[in-house]
Amino acid sequence: MKKVVKFGGSSLASANQIMKAAKIIKSDETRRYVVPSAPGKRYSDDIKVTDMLYRCYDTAAKGGLIDDQIKRISDRYNEIITGLEIDLDLSGEFEVIRDHFLRQAGREYAASRGEYLNGLVMARYLGFRFIDAAEVVCFDESGNFDSEKTHQILRERLRNIEYAVIPGFYGAMPDGSIKTFSRGGSDITGSIVARAVHADVYENWTDVSGVLVTDPHLVPDPEVIDVITYRELRELSYMGATVLHEDAIFPVRKEGIPINIRNTNRPEDHGTMIVESTCRQPKHVITGIAGKKGFCSINIEKDMMNSEIGFGRRVLQVFEENGISFEHTPSGIDTFSVLVHQSEFEEKEQSVISGLHRAVHPDTIDLEGDLALIAIVGRGMKTRKGTAGQVFSALAHARINIKMIDQGSSELNIIIGVRNEDFETAIRAIYDIFITSELED
Ligand code: ASP
Repeated sequence: MKKVVKFGGSSLASANQIMKAAKIIKSDETRRYVVPSAPGKRYSDDIKVTDMLYRCYDTAAKGGLIDDQIKRISDRYNEIITGLEIDLDLSGEFEVIRDHFLRQAGREYAASRGEYLNGLVMARYLGFRFIDAAEVVCFDESGNFDSEKTHQILRERLRNIEYAVIPGFYGAMPDGSIKTFSRGGSDITGSIVARAVHADVYENWTDVSGVLVTDPHLVPDPEVIDVITYRELRELSYMGATVLHEDAIFPVRKEGIPINIRNTNRPEDHGTMIVESTCRQPKHVITGIAGKKGFCSINIEKDMMNSEIGFGRRVLQVFEENGISFEHTPSGIDTFSVLVHQSEFEEKEQSVISGLHRAVHPDTIDLEGDLALIAIVGRGMKTRKGTAGQVFSALAHARINIKMIDQGSSELNIIIGVRNEDFETAIRAIYDIFITSELED
């Protein structure tokens, strides 16, 4: 049995948090490969080390003085080192970092130092081998992650190492320069390591007890999802749920390795298992609800549209030519709507309207902005009748007008469109009908 454990920034923000993480690691000898983030926030208006590094580098790039900022960053690490009572002197490392900043080694190099230094601290505290991610996580010349090369190198490198710390978030390009993933990218590193060592599970330790059914800013104290499939999670993440970096599922998915989201502050909680597939009945018909505001619907009407072959293609081509990606295309007999992100569309709207007139000669085109999309996701919907009906009646009760509905053929999700201003109420109404009332039954 082999586990890869990734700890997020808040789980490693102070000596005290690192002690909790270490206790978790040491309590199970199969927790063999540790992927740390940089120290995150200790309290809500604290600054993450990654952000301190970005700022410090930006000052250096503008020719400003950075000694104070470097000192503040090194103070954070020294406080951790003192708290952990380990024998580690990072002053040499900070000399090198300062030097590289002044020589403008790059913003990504700067940001990566948060994980690099935290990796050194963790490795020393745990007594594990430190492996610099720059040696094992590869990006190609264009800066894209090179999944297969990384897999070969990392697999080879870890073959005979029983316990190791590999910092998250960064790797290197073929010329050795440091490259990072996008923000939150340590999740991806954890997944890459899990794939390379054929882990039995990839544990992702954070500050919540798993993936929540919906956004806690919208519904107070939502339930934790116990099991969710990769596909369901992808649907929810796409629509705004933010528990794991979007790209983190791909490496483990290739190997069918489950991800377990756990809470460093409540290790007794089981958290959420993210799996490829499961025959276990979901607890509720729906697994999660997520949504986003800021969409616009372009509604095109033309009599006899349904008999006009190529109509849809010509419409979408206009969007393509304007460089706009579309989200949904609900259609009726004589109507065809295209939903797009309003912010992307606004600038191009007149050019799209005239393009559509030229391409399909519609009777009318009207635009409706300020829409929100809500995804109701659940593998349990497939075998159940009446789910859409329940959504409709919940929204009718809440006096919300549904502007659009779309159910993919996978029957994994139902997407509804409502006005931006109805967004929060709609999510609460759907949560209540599927989760709260089922719990009360
Ligand atoms: N430290 C990086 C960030 O703040 C990466 C991570 O934590 O995953 O985005």
